Amino acid sequence: MAADREVRVRFAPAPSGWLHVGSVRTALFNWLWARHTRGTFIWRIEDTDADRATEDSMQSMIEAMRWLGLDWDEGIEVGGPYGPYRQSERADLHRAVARRLQDAGHLYHDDRSPDELNTWRQQRRDDDLPPTVKRGTVPDADTGTLRLALPASGTVSVHDEVRGEVTWDWANESDPVLVRSNGAVTYPLANATDDLAQGVSLVCRGEDLLSVTPRQLFLYDLLLADGLLDDALDEVGLPARDPSWGAPSSFAHLSMVVGEDRKKLSKRHGSVSIQELARQGFLPETLLNTIALLGWSPRDGRERLDRDEVVAAFSLDQVGASAAAFDVDKLTAFNGERIRDMDPAALAHRLVPHLDGTYLPDGDDGEPDPDHEPILSTPPSDGELVRLTALVPLVQERMQVLAEVADYAPPFFREVGIDEAAAAKVFRKAGSVEALEAGATALAGVDWTVEAIEAALRGLTDELGIGFGKVAQPIRVAVTGSNVSPPLFESLAIMDRHVVLDRLAAALPVARAVRDDLG
Ligand code: GLU
Repeated sequence: MAADREVRVRFAPAPSGWLHVGSVRTALFNWLWARHTRGTFIWRIEDTDADRATEDSMQSMIEAMRWLGLDWDEGIEVGGPYGPYRQSERADLHRAVARRLQDAGHLYHDDRSPDELNTWRQQRRDDDLPPTVKRGTVPDADTGTLRLALPASGTVSVHDEVRGEVTWDWANESDPVLVRSNGAVTYPLANATDDLAQGVSLVCRGEDLLSVTPRQLFLYDLLLADGLLDDALDEVGLPARDPSWGAPSSFAHLSMVVGEDRKKLSKRHGSVSIQELARQGFLPETLLNTIALLGWSPRDGRERLDRDEVVAAFSLDQVGASAAAFDVDKLTAFNGERIRDMDPAALAHRLVPHLDGTYLPDGDDGEPDPDHEPILSTPPSDGELVRLTALVPLVQERMQVLAEVADYAPPFFREVGIDEAAAAKVFRKAGSVEALEAGATALAGVDWTVEAIEAALRGLTDELGIGFGKVAQPIRVAVTGSNVSPPLFESLAIMDRHVVLDRLAAALPVARAVRDDLG
């Protein structure tokens, strides 16, 4: 890799849709390379296609990048010396470049309609000729689109960090449209112009864009020759380029991201927005770690890496060319591992958005439940935070994703009804009513500590002559509403005594009714 000048890399998405695992991987690899080399990470928005670009999409991308902790040195929102960074705001420059290319004789008109072009292509195939659009094959015209005349023959090569040397034959490359018949400049020209004007040193992007590389290389040469771009920048009053910048010296085309079934990434296999993964309770650090391993691995084969470790170890020549599989099960297991290693107070803060209504949990249909009632206040009170922090050690071992906290937390923060199935199952056993009554009496007078609560409840097994499960389960159902909960003594200890006693009292008629029903 040419290491002779400062690394300047860019993420250049079109703002139509949200960031998903594949697009974030492109952003992340650019970011990692910039951070690893102490270079510059630029975020340019390629919004020249006004029909597809939306402001919502851009805002959602910004939110996702910030949530992942990926910062950018120049670009949208943050600005920088070679802006603007929204391509649509650079249209004057793109037009000035197009005009200069036309004046220099590199562009020619093609006034065929799309239908006529299709017919022409078919005719060429029928005649056993390549359907490649080249200057000599297009009828003369004074209007219509403007195409760039690429070389007719010969080859062009580039060094790709992922694929090695890649070579194309010019004879197979159709002359691209650079200006539409309505005068709008197309993305190939805007993209190449801005890469040069912003001093991009290496283009790292998805392999779907490998095929546009030859025309881009040719444009780089034309725009740098005779100061064409420099003059155009000067003409429209945009910042001059650094004189040491040439064209990007290499490319890195990243392979496709597929699901663990090796098929195109589907919703079930993780093709969802970053915000959706956040809602499902993945930690940004797990996602960053996992996405970094999509096609890259450190030389020592480590799989668990923190952000700084990835930055230190990252290298583009360690990126593989075969499709990278995104494995949601593995992501989930890694996430659980990270959750278990977290400090309880820090974890409590991460759990808050899953309890205060910021992230809605799944409804019955697996979609976010719009009727969900928040479990915590917004912002949470000090008391709620203290209790949540006390709850963390009880649930930390059980969670793979943060959203699971909503399965356990409700009875600790608000009144919950008793689950009917749990009541039917547990209260039908002999001794349940007695366990609730004796439990209430025993708990009324003890110190409110885990040890004292445990001693009091274990003491009931002798008193009632039933096994401990038969004591504990009715109490668990009465107090938490469910027959599955975090460990009982610890759970009771972090609730208020009067809440526990009230719930035991309220459960008694329910337990009696179940018993009476059985006759
Ligand atoms: N704007 C292009 C896209 O969204 C990316 C261009 C590039 O990275 O060169 O596909």
